[in-house]
Amino acid sequence: MNFDFDAVIVGAGPVGSTIAFYLCSNGLNVAIFDKKKQIGYPLQCAGILSKHIFDTNELPDEVVLNVVRGAFLHTQNHILSVKKDESVAYVIDRIAYDEFLLNRAIENGAKFINQKVIEVDGENGITLLSNNQKVKSKVIIGCDGYNSLLSKSMGNSQNNFPASQMLVKIDDDSMKLFRNSGENVENYVDTYLLNDILPGFLWVIPLKDDYYRVGLFSNQDHKIQDDVLKNFLDNNFEYEIIEKYKGFIPIFDDKNKLVENRLLLIGDAASQVKPTSGGGLLIAFDACRMASKFVSEAIGNDDMGILRGYEKEFMKEYQKEFNYQFKVQKTLDLLSDEDLDYLFSKLRENDCERLISEYGDMDTQSRLVKEFIKRGLIFKIVPSFLFKKVIKIFGFR
Ligand SMILES: Cc1cc2nc3c(=O)[nH]c(=O)nc-3n(C[C@H](O)[C@H](O)[C@H](O)COP(=O)(O)OP(=O)(O)OC[C@H]3O[C@@H](n4cnc5c(N)ncnc54)[C@H](O)[C@@H]3O)c2cc1C
Repeated sequence: MNFDFDAVIVGAGPVGSTIAFYLCSNGLNVAIFDKKKQIGYPLQCAGILSKHIFDTNELPDEVVLNVVRGAFLHTQNHILSVKKDESVAYVIDRIAYDEFLLNRAIENGAKFINQKVIEVDGENGITLLSNNQKVKSKVIIGCDGYNSLLSKSMGNSQNNFPASQMLVKIDDDSMKLFRNSGENVENYVDTYLLNDILPGFLWVIPLKDDYYRVGLFSNQDHKIQDDVLKNFLDNNFEYEIIEKYKGFIPIFDDKNKLVENRLLLIGDAASQVKPTSGGGLLIAFDACRMASKFVSEAIGNDDMGILRGYEKEFMKEYQKEFNYQFKVQKTLDLLSDEDLDYLFSKLRENDCERLISEYGDMDTQSRLVKEFIKRGLIFKIVPSFLFKKVIKIFGFR
């Protein structure tokens, strides 16, 4: 059979560009299609990446806007502070990062084509473009985001949380009051838990010069989220809204397929997003590393059955952690604003700020949850009338 390319990648977001880079490095002939004229626009990201980014991808200095060293965690009436001696995360210019990753793929040999993909045939490796051109490849990789055409073509169900974000200029003094702290405001992120928006949360991420990304994800529609954000800003700050963005955060579903015939999904198209934080990039970059190995092997051996190894390896690596995060989410979802206040007051009483600083990690919550369980803290911090429900969620005996 004649093929135009070894691999066609649908979507030149950060994930499509990263897998393209890896496959070209393995000597494959790769094309990337994207329907957008300007890659990365409109912005749909808070742009926060944990320090583990360097284990999964390059991050050039030029795209880093700020370095995070800690967090203030808020409920309506309580604040916990989590501090680390070292940098824990980076706030990035996401549009510049997407451009960097695409240029890196092109420089490594990938062919970028500005076309919308309107149909794929996974059995025969055919990609149909909006200009009616048909392209044939050994593998087709869906990196086409939360509303993935390729995922739908595999019969997957796709569920997403709406997410809204604003670029806001916030007066320095009102930020100090909000945090009840005179500390350096530039290196801390804030998270805010409100019953209305659970199982999501609200974030305030510092860029520089008093500019912040203020956003949330929740089960509400974008209009309601807009009102929640405005109320939050009105109640806490002197501020000016500069820009508004909206998007969707996929909900991981382990029943969905990642591979079928010559088709394979990565990134938001595969709902590879952390349930508690909504962060997708680190996991997806790790999935690119895994997928590139199996795609190269499948093409080298002309055996598409090898692609299934990617699905197995991904599940082995992430399913357990995701399940922990769903349990944390379910527990939080039980709590009213008063219960959240109670939880935070008990966390402080039991010296848990220190524990969170020591064991907390933006990417993996299982380590911290296990530590809470081991020290018998879970039942000291959760209101007693919820014990039975928490036992059921975590499956304690
Ligand atoms: C408000 C918000 C805040 C977030 N904050 C963070 C954060 O702080 N940290 C983090 O790690 N993650 C965050 N995320 C998640 C993160 O942005 C995504 O996980 C990430 O963008 C996924 O990258 P991707 O390449 O899979 O998809 P995308 O970035 O969505 O790229 C998909 C690409 O596919 C193209 N495409 C789609 N369909 C077609 C088609 N039919 N033909 C051709 N091209 C097509 C699109 O044009 C697009 O360029 C956030 C998400 C939202 C919504």
